[in-house]
Amino acid sequence: MGRRCSGSTSGRGLEHNWWGKLWKSQVPNKVKIHVWRAYHEALPTMFSLSKRGVGVNKLCPSCRTGMEDSSHVLWYCSEAQEVWRNSALWPVLKKFPGGPFYAFCLFVSSQWNSDELGIFLVIIWCLWQRRNKWIFENKLMTASEIVAWAGRFLGDFLTCNGLDSPVEKRTLAPKALWHAPSHGLIKINVDAAVDSSLEFIGVGIVARDEEDAVMSFLSRRIFGKFSPHLGECLAVREGVFLANFLKLDNWVVESDAMNAVRAIQNPVAEAPEANIVEDIRDYIAGVRNGRVCHISRDGNRVAHTLAKYALSKSVFCFGIDFVPRWLGPFVKADLVS
Ligand SMILES: [Zn+2]
Repeated sequence: MGRRCSGSTSGRGLEHNWWGKLWKSQVPNKVKIHVWRAYHEALPTMFSLSKRGVGVNKLCPSCRTGMEDSSHVLWYCSEAQEVWRNSALWPVLKKFPGGPFYAFCLFVSSQWNSDELGIFLVIIWCLWQRRNKWIFENKLMTASEIVAWAGRFLGDFLTCNGLDSPVEKRTLAPKALWHAPSHGLIKINVDAAVDSSLEFIGVGIVARDEEDAVMSFLSRRIFGKFSPHLGECLAVREGVFLANFLKLDNWVVESDAMNAVRAIQNPVAEAPEANIVEDIRDYIAGVRNGRVCHISRDGNRVAHTLAKYALSKSVFCFGIDFVPRWLGPFVKADLVS
């Protein structure tokens, strides 16, 4: 470590600094202990279980692409990357040059004081809870849900303990804007525009890759009278159709309609959207990695613009690898965030 951290601070100094900040930070003790265990590779990850002779697959049960150790489940896994990218910590964390989990902790403690460290520690804890929910309850929490949960969790703890420092400052206010997907993942934002006086709805879709490039977009009408909720479900289905049309096998469809996302994650057989949801789930089951997640409205502005466009113009607008001139400024506005 000394060699790795050659500079003004020795490896031992960095480590001392980290433990000092960890124990001083204002988060529940169970969070500190969890992070301590992760640092020492003492979490019951698939890798450490298999090392101890438990007959399990070493692969990460979420992404099935990496060996599941602390650094994978809490940082390298595409699921974890989505969470960090959704948090306000990303501009700092993305500078982490890589390494095992302890190196990640040492890097982080060189960036923040013990107050600022709070939300980082809580997200580390939430990432592990999310992993367990997925393995043991088959429940998938979206990245934005995790970040919101971590903020609430820390806020409640501070309030209950009479620590009235503004939570926004400590959580570095989670950002809700659009961000590029992690490596190899295609992000497909979808939205519906519903005007009850019209006999059709507008649907907007935009698919972008890790370099913010627009792979494809769609603005079209779907004829019929639909409730806003059904309209949003139809928009998700159009997004999934587009992924299928483009032959993608690693994608996430993002909708700002929380109820539609919930209906797809936990389908109800007699619900009015049941058929649409079944279609969507069939497609998801047929690809390597396909998901439907929630995103704030602020993170879904391009799809919203495309949906509105379909309400006002009767042209079917579709493209691959190009952006129409009128849409360009909206795509650019997302990149500024
Ligand atoms: Zn993984």
